[in-house]
Amino acid sequence: YSAKVHRNEFSSYLPEMNVKAHDRLRMESDLRKALEQEQFTLAYQPLINLDSGKVVGVEALVRWHHPQRGLLPPGDFIPLTEENGLILPLGEWVLRAACKQNKAWQDAGLPPIMMSVNLSMRQFRQHGLAERIQSILEQTGMNPRYLDLEITESMTSDVEFATEMLTSLKELGVQISIDDFGTGYSSLVYLKKFPIDKLKIDRSFVNDLDKNGSDAAIVTTITAMAKHLNLKVTAEGVENDEQVRLLRERQCEEAQGFFFTKPIPANLFENWYRHREQII
Ligand code: C2E
Ligand code: MG
Ligand code: MG
Ligand code: MG
Repeated sequence: YSAKVHRNEFSSYLPEMNVKAHDRLRMESDLRKALEQEQFTLAYQPLINLDSGKVVGVEALVRWHHPQRGLLPPGDFIPLTEENGLILPLGEWVLRAACKQNKAWQDAGLPPIMMSVNLSMRQFRQHGLAERIQSILEQTGMNPRYLDLEITESMTSDVEFATEMLTSLKELGVQISIDDFGTGYSSLVYLKKFPIDKLKIDRSFVNDLDKNGSDAAIVTTITAMAKHLNLKVTAEGVENDEQVRLLRERQCEEAQGFFFTKPIPANLFENWYRHREQII
């Protein structure tokens, strides 16, 4: 009986594995080509100060113009690049493109705003990351004080390494934020010791802020804790004005989400920025 089950499993499993392996190889070679041919592009989503209603920065979010499959979101390809190491050249492309854009906006006379860039674990562990970022800053002429590097809680689990890496990044004069905060397992003890500047409250807690009492309590707690630790705080995934109201009530200083705008290409952002009516 068990032999039969095994054979059946085996025979249905193997072809599927082949297809997956094939897809994966195809994706990998597409990704290499995409890097050479610059098929990647950045979308920008503003961060809004909830007191003044002003745009304080944007987050750069990568997309892939795949020649056959159309515009792909990061969730469709970032995980694979993290596995096969292509996140290193891709991450460097993202950093350079974001810094260039920030400089271009300032040269075009837009008021200075922060530029947030997501780092992946693999990048964070890369030897000489700070030096690489330093040279990107020099090459693009971007002022380091406007660069915000987003890391996640999981990257801080090796406390000694994280402290050292974060310290060397901070020496560049950049800002550091913890992204998706509340979904990982940050030790509160180290949160106080790490040289970080901001917590970004994960979208999952903001989503049901207006419907779910425990999510509201979590947002209240993170916001209060950030204040006590002298950290800035941004709420991610804000989709309606009731959420804005509840965030302000909790003195959460910044918000980001579809309520203001979805992530949009650079030229559309510029247009949105110049012509927007302040909705809060
Ligand atoms: P993230 O850094 O937490 O970025 C926020 C994500 O939430 C973005 O998805 C954004 O489009 C989405 N979002 C923003 N406001 C709302 C809202 O009001 N409602 C909803 N439902 N969603 C909202 P996106 O662009 O698909 O990016 C997903 C994730 O991919 C990012 O999450 C980040 O972890 C990763 N990612 C994006 N760009 C890069 C990159 O250049 N490098 C690395 N390593 N990761 C990146
Ligand atoms: Mg992010
Ligand atoms: Mg996030
Ligand atoms: Mg997220």
